Amino acid sequence: MAAKGPGTSEDGIQTRIESTLNEVPTAASLRAYHELLGSEPHVAGTPGDERTIQRIADAFAAMGLVVRRHEFHAYLAQHVDATVQITSPPVATLPLIERALPEDPDTSHPDLPAGFNAYSGSGDVTAEIVYANYGTTEDFEQLSALGVSVQGRIVMARYGENYRGFKARYAEEAGAAGLIIFTDPADAGYGRGIPYPEGGYANASSIQRGSIKTLDYAGDPLTPFEPATANAARLAADEVALPRIPVQPLGWDAAAQIMSRMRGPVVPKGWQGGLPFAYRLTGGEDLTVRLAVRQRRALVKSANVLGVLPGTSEPEKMVIIGCHHDAWGFGASDPLAGTMILLECARSFAELARQGLAPARTIIFAAWGAEEQGIIGSVEWCEANRDDLVANAVAYINLDMAAMGEDFGASADPSLKRLITAATKAVPQARGKEGQSVFDAWVSHTVHDAAAAGNPPTPPVPPEPVFGNLGGGSDHVGFYCHLGIPSCGLGASGSPGTAYHSNYDTLAWYRKVVGDDYQPALMLTRLANIMLARLANEPLLPLDPARYGPDLRIHLQTLEKRARSLDVAVDFQRLRDALDDFEAVAIPTQLRLLEVASSGRSTPPERLRRVNTLLGDIQRRWRHEPGLPGRPWFKNLFAATDPTSGYAAWMLPALRYHLERRDPDGVAEAVELYAEVVVSIKSDLSRIGQLLGLHSLETPAAIESYP
Ligand SMILES: [Zn+2]
Repeated sequence: MAAKGPGTSEDGIQTRIESTLNEVPTAASLRAYHELLGSEPHVAGTPGDERTIQRIADAFAAMGLVVRRHEFHAYLAQHVDATVQITSPPVATLPLIERALPEDPDTSHPDLPAGFNAYSGSGDVTAEIVYANYGTTEDFEQLSALGVSVQGRIVMARYGENYRGFKARYAEEAGAAGLIIFTDPADAGYGRGIPYPEGGYANASSIQRGSIKTLDYAGDPLTPFEPATANAARLAADEVALPRIPVQPLGWDAAAQIMSRMRGPVVPKGWQGGLPFAYRLTGGEDLTVRLAVRQRRALVKSANVLGVLPGTSEPEKMVIIGCHHDAWGFGASDPLAGTMILLECARSFAELARQGLAPARTIIFAAWGAEEQGIIGSVEWCEANRDDLVANAVAYINLDMAAMGEDFGASADPSLKRLITAATKAVPQARGKEGQSVFDAWVSHTVHDAAAAGNPPTPPVPPEPVFGNLGGGSDHVGFYCHLGIPSCGLGASGSPGTAYHSNYDTLAWYRKVVGDDYQPALMLTRLANIMLARLANEPLLPLDPARYGPDLRIHLQTLEKRARSLDVAVDFQRLRDALDDFEAVAIPTQLRLLEVASSGRSTPPERLRRVNTLLGDIQRRWRHEPGLPGRPWFKNLFAATDPTSGYAAWMLPALRYHLERRDPDGVAEAVELYAEVVVSIKSDLSRIGQLLGLHSLETPAAIESYP
C-alpha cells in the first residue's frame, strides 16, 4: 500500500479502497465515455480509429496515468469493392451494405463500410450454388455423403455454430469457387425476436462482418512469435495460409434472392433456416451467381494505447485489464460495451492514487488495436513483452463487449474462479432487488437456465455458478494461450437482440436494447475494480491453484466421454493417481492460504513474497515451451482455442489432440506430460505449505471442511 496513516490497519485501508472503488464509478461517466468513443466508425487502420486511439490516450492522460502508445505494423485486409449478382435471368445485383434507418441517423454515416470478410481472397467467379448449412466439418461431410459436390461452385452457408473463418477454410478445401455467408433470420433475426429498429434483432439487411483468418497462431499473419515492428523480419505473404477464394457476407434479404431461386433437392433435417421457402441443397444449372471481391492486403500501422498506474511496492508485478478499441463500425457494443468500462476502471484507480492510495503492484489499462482482424494488437504487445510478462504478469482480465445485459457470466482459468466469485458477492446486482448481490442473481439465473434446458443442477454447497472455459475469440488469447498467464473474460448478457458486427451496432441500438441506464456497465466496472484491487494490493496473491484439481477431474471426464464416442481406448489412471496426491496437498494448503489471507499481517512480508513467487511459478507450469502438437504458438497445456471451430475451448489440448487423431500412444504420452505438471504443481504447493507453517499436510478434518 502506498500511504499508511498511523494507526490505520491494512484491513481498514483495503476496506476504504474497495468502498471508493464502488463509489467513484457512475453511470453518467460511463455514458460519456461511450458517447466519446462511439461517435464515429473506427475500423482498424482508418482515420476514425486513429482519432479513437487519441481520445483514449487523452482520457488516460487527463486521469494522470502514464500513457504508452504501442505501435505495430500488421498485415491487415482492407475492403476495396465487391459485387454479388444473380447472372441467370432475371439478373439482379444484391445489396452489400445495410439500409440506413431514419430512426437511427448514425446508420447513414458516410464512413460506414460495406459488408466484407477481412482476408477474403480477391477474385471474380461465376458459378452454380450449393447450400452447406452452417459450413461446419460435419456439414461438409454430410454434403459429400449425399453426393453433392461443391467443386467449382459457390457455397452459401449461414452464420452460426462455428467461427466464420472455418466455413471459408472448409469451403476452400472442398474445392469451392467462392463462399457467401449470410445471416439467417432463424438464428439472429425474427426467429429470435423483433428486428431492429422496432426491436433489437437482425433485420433483413443486417450484415455480419468479420475476419476469416484461421492460422495456427493469433496476431499479425506475417510475424508469428515476434512483435510486428516496422523492421521486423516477416514471412512472405504467399507462405502464409490466408484464404484464396472470394468470401462475402450477406443479409438475408439479399441471400433470399439466391436461395429462393434454387431448384435442387430439399435439405436434410436441421438444415432448414428461417426464410419462408424450402431450403435446397443445390441451385441447379439454371441458377448462376457472380461473386467478385477485391481486397487489399497491406502493412498498416495501428496502435495499442495503455494507461499505466505504477505500483508503489512491487512495481515490476503487473495486473493487466484490457479491451480492444477497433470496431467494424461504430462498435457501440463490440467493443465499446467493454472499452467504456476499461476507462471507468482506470478513472477509479486514478482517483484512488490521487487520494494517496496508489496500488502496490502496477496496473495496466490496455485498449488494444486491430482485434477484429484477428486479435492482432494485444498479441503483438504480448510478443513484444514476452519475457517480462512471463516473469511478472499476475493476471489478465478481458472486457470485450462486457456490458451487454444484466446477467453476469465469466470464463476463467481455475486459479481466478475464487476471486471472481468473491468479487460478485461484494457488488450489487444491476437493476436488482434491494440487497441482491451479483452473486445472488448469477446463481439464480444459472440455476434457472439449467432447469430451462432440462437439467436442473443439484446445488453445490456453497453454490457456485457455472464458469465458462476460456477459449478463443478475443484479446486474452496472447496472455493465456501463448504466455500462460491466468486470465478471465468478464461479461453480462441477456438483452433481447444482436447488432453483432453490423452497421446497426450504434449508440441508439445499445441504448434501446441493452438500456440507457448504464447499470450493467456500472456493475461490471465495480466487479473489475474489486478484482483489480485485490490482485494489485493483497499481500498474498488471491490465486487459487488448488482449483486445478476439481477442474482437471471434470475435464478428464469430458475427455473420457469423447474417447468413448471416438471408440479410442484411453487410460487416465496415471493422471488420476497424480491428482489424488495433488489434492492431498492442495486442499490443506489452500485452507492455510485462505487463513493467512484473512489474518493479514501475521506472516512476515519476505515470506509472503516467496509464497507469491511460488504462486506465479505454479501458473507457468502449464506453459509448455515447445507448444502444443502441431501448434507451437499455443503453449498453455491447460486450455487452447478449438482448432476446428475457433471460438470454443479445447481443455487439456495436448491430450485432446492425440485423442482426436485416435492415437493411443500419443494419448499415453500426453497423460504422462500432464501427470508431470500436476506433480510439479504439487511440490510448489508443498513448499508454500512449509513457508506458511503447515506441518501436517493431510489433516482429514481439513479435507472434510473443503467446500
Ligand atoms: Zn470484440
